[in-house]
Amino acid sequence: MYVELLNHTPNPEKAIAMAAKLCYSPAKIKELKKDIDIDNSKVKSFIHKLFQMGHFSPFEHISFTFGIEGISRTTSHQLVRHRIASYSQQSQRYVEYEHLDYVVPPKISENKELKNAFITMMKKIQETYRYFLKNEIATEDARYILPNATCTKIIVTMNARSLLHFFELRCCYRAQWEIQKLACEMLMLVTNITPSIFEKAGPKCVDGIDYCPEGSMSCGNPFNLNV
Ligand SMILES: Cc1cc2nc3c(=O)[nH]c(=O)nc-3n(C[C@H](O)[C@H](O)[C@H](O)COP(=O)(O)OP(=O)(O)OC[C@H]3O[C@@H](n4cnc5c(N)ncnc54)[C@H](O)[C@@H]3O)c2cc1C
Repeated sequence: MYVELLNHTPNPEKAIAMAAKLCYSPAKIKELKKDIDIDNSKVKSFIHKLFQMGHFSPFEHISFTFGIEGISRTTSHQLVRHRIASYSQQSQRYVEYEHLDYVVPPKISENKELKNAFITMMKKIQETYRYFLKNEIATEDARYILPNATCTKIIVTMNARSLLHFFELRCCYRAQWEIQKLACEMLMLVTNITPSIFEKAGPKCVDGIDYCPEGSMSCGNPFNLNV
């Protein structure tokens, strides 16, 4: 899996603080901007206040763009269920696979016999896929045989509010291992850029909230925050 932060809104924390300040101030835009530019400490305290109040719309003014490759289609399918985002994904209709790159789940990979069974099946699928193409079956139809394990590339843009929600759901132990790994990598990248926004991001239990939306499926962490 390779995840790169390709782009983000410049001065993200200031952009949020500016939007927040505007809501509660009679000042003109130029004055607000000057005020924020002069006193950087206000930026962090505004962001903190927004979290306390649950006023999350200012977080929609900043966005982050990630380049992601080497994830499976299983994971990209889960990723694109997050509707408050923009996606561009490599097409299996226009891009023909010479070699099938695929993800082997660690639990299968750690058992030699199971791993061999997995690889044998992937080879067979690749052969059949190429056989279809050789027999003038269009890529858009040959792809029907490709597995969920097939690697994909995707560019994702999400605003900070949507990312906070994404991290809440997908950094959770209850999320599937691959999307959890992806979410944690994305979280690490954005935390480096804007710690004041993302340092407490993640599942609800990480933020010290003592309930778990997973209910009876909970991993138990909310009641044992040091785990
Ligand atoms: C552990 C786990 C297991 C899952 N299992 C399944 C499963 O078995 N089957 C399955 O189909 N999915 C499953 N999902 C996917 C899940 O149902 C969501 O589709 C996915 O997590 C995206 O979340 P979201 O809709 O909150 O995010 P987004 O689509 O980004 O939406 C963000 C928020 O915007 C609001 N919103 C967006 N669109 C609408 C709308 N049309 N109407 C009203 N409000 C809206 C909601 O408040 C939503 O939470 C699972 C997710 C997780 C984390």
